[in-house]
Amino acid sequence: MYWDQATETMSRDQLEELQLKRMKETLNRAAKAPFYQTLGIADYVIKDLSDIQKLPVTTKQDLRDAYPYGMVCTPLQEIIRLHSSSGTTGIPTVVYHSREDIQMWTELVTRCMYMIGVRPDDVFQNMIGYGLFTGGLGLHYGAERLGCLTIPTGPGNTKRQLKFMKEFDVSVIHVIPSYALHLADTLEAAGIKPKKEFPKLKSAILGAEPHSEETRAKIEDFFGIDAFNSYGLSEMNGPGVAFECPHKQGLHLWEDAFCFEIVDPETLKPTSPGERGELIVTTLTRQAMPIIRYRTKDLTMRITAECACGRTHQRIERISGRSDDMMILKGVNIFPIQIEQILIGTPGVGRNYQIILESKGHNDHMILKVELDPSMFIGDISSLEKLRAKLIRELHDEILITPDVDLCEPGSIPVAQGKAVRVIDNREL
Ligand code: AMP
Ligand code: ZN
Repeated sequence: MYWDQATETMSRDQLEELQLKRMKETLNRAAKAPFYQTLGIADYVIKDLSDIQKLPVTTKQDLRDAYPYGMVCTPLQEIIRLHSSSGTTGIPTVVYHSREDIQMWTELVTRCMYMIGVRPDDVFQNMIGYGLFTGGLGLHYGAERLGCLTIPTGPGNTKRQLKFMKEFDVSVIHVIPSYALHLADTLEAAGIKPKKEFPKLKSAILGAEPHSEETRAKIEDFFGIDAFNSYGLSEMNGPGVAFECPHKQGLHLWEDAFCFEIVDPETLKPTSPGERGELIVTTLTRQAMPIIRYRTKDLTMRITAECACGRTHQRIERISGRSDDMMILKGVNIFPIQIEQILIGTPGVGRNYQIILESKGHNDHMILKVELDPSMFIGDISSLEKLRAKLIRELHDEILITPDVDLCEPGSIPVAQGKAVRVIDNREL
């Protein structure tokens, strides 16, 4: 049941002792990187874990400013790999790994996969991008370490994905949730029943983008499988930071490798358990490029209750969005996931949607493009009008804005190769 029982079920006291020891080592190592030297990190003294709050935070901008080598604290000959974040603007953020870093990352990913029941006799199809993006190689190394037959398809080419899944009797897939929904659409359009086509398929690992509980349920129902939420970011290796156990009540964040805080994004003061805030993470084992108090911008909540699985590493709630993704419309703060929850949970609504923001005079205006199930286009048009009215009503109750709802046929909204583009902001500044 456990990949590494001693670590996964370590008592909280032992775990915190380990964290403190690793935190001190991390500070010593980080002090060799030009960026942290400038911050005078060597002068900070950590006596207990709460002292972490005295340390400066590190932002994505800091990583950019330190580009290309300002965060590295080991000689280049000890570094064997770099990865870069998927951000599309400006200078990329680059993260460097030593051999030990890659081994530790692999260990964490293997631990996650084992936790959800992946075993050496599984056939694993990895539909997430290889290359600079961390999703592909991260899971790839973990699956191989576990001993699975690993198929590195990467993203896209839906026909081939489905063919491989069928012909190699794939049992586990790793997929971006929006792409899983696209696969479902494609199968449905071809009248293919997933349980018949892929009798061995048992689980999907969903990662790389925020998705709602409703989206998970839709994927699980359609394919007849279990789907597990996988969270990570390239600054913290990539996948393998936090992952759902079979109980699916939040994601265990591996505290032997990372120290996490949840803070108010404005004041950076810790939030109380049960209160949502920004996740801040410190690497505890990274050799080549330790990162101290990284501001992820991801919003979540700490779950302190013990988990029925016996793992002692605390859980975080599924990420509800990035503080960057928050849209402010007519003064109201809205996250795309609030809209997704309503859409995906409504019968008749399909699996893809897009939010378009425009200026109407001096006002903000939202147009919501929503793909529908093909069955909605057969027969009575009044059912479309009823659905539109229902959506507008429920959306207004949730986000206090009355959007225009544009009901479209399946396949009319483009599907991204990587993370879905949910919001297009055409507003004038
Ligand atoms: P990258 O560094 O390009 O891999 O992107 C990392 C970002 O993707 C994170 O900071 C999150 O915003 C997002 N992300 C990754 N996994 C998840 C997940 N399971 N749920 C929500 N957001 C995620
Ligand atoms: Zn658990």
